[in-house]
Amino acid sequence: MRFDIMTLFPDVVDSVLGSSIIGRAQNAGHVEIHSHNIRSYSKDKHHRVDDTPYGGGMGMLMSPVPIYDCYKAILESQLEADKSRSEPVRRRVIYMSPRGKVLTQKKAYELTGYDNIILLCGHYEGVDERIIEEIVDEELSIGDYVLTGGELPACVLVDCVSRMLDGVLANEDCWRGESIASGMLEYPQYTRPVDFMGRKVPEVLLSGHHANIERWRREQALKKTLEARPDLLGGKGVGFDKKEENP
Ligand code: SAM
Repeated sequence: MRFDIMTLFPDVVDSVLGSSIIGRAQNAGHVEIHSHNIRSYSKDKHHRVDDTPYGGGMGMLMSPVPIYDCYKAILESQLEADKSRSEPVRRRVIYMSPRGKVLTQKKAYELTGYDNIILLCGHYEGVDERIIEEIVDEELSIGDYVLTGGELPACVLVDCVSRMLDGVLANEDCWRGESIASGMLEYPQYTRPVDFMGRKVPEVLLSGHHANIERWRREQALKKTLEARPDLLGGKGVGFDKKEENP
């Protein structure tokens, strides 16, 4: 799967996504992530990419022209890379925006069904509406709050989608059994030492009795979910049937 991220701050996305598990996934070829500096496509002699909004108002808006030129360059490079593919390539263009539907694990799982995802990161007051109309398939938010730019939201989306791709985690059970994807919140977990400041690891986890451990974990997961997210109960979780849920 390939991500192309259009941004004014490629260093931010490169540093976040270049390390740890997603960095290793890129090195191993499980996911391809390219950042593109929209400013490089500005034809303005001062490389400006923003302007004042028509009708007045606070702040600056990103102009549609350099974004469109950046998008066209990405598309050309994707088409070149996809030349040898026999099956149709599934593409999606997403604008990270507080106006969008909120990203969920289920939505992220659906996005694993695409081959190429292009993400547009806004800044300042956002982007000229016409670029959204021209190139964007959907707007996605990472939550009901406003950040200064779309870079962190884009990294959140890429991380969340990538860890569900084959080969990125040790196996699929790693993410299918976790909070939200499993339909519940995860049970408490413990590692060494057995006694930490007087707080002991629950006896059952030291017993070696697998059935009892499983039962205890299920009970604890249910308790946590009832306490914090009762709305999750009754759902079937995410990703049980790949064919059904992917585009
Ligand atoms: N004026 C815009 C509004 O009221 O909807 C907010 C612009 S925000 C300051 C600048 C950029 O940050 C947005 O264009 C978007 O790309 C990104 N952004 C901010 N909050 C976000 C969120 N919750 N989810 C996704 N992107 C967000």
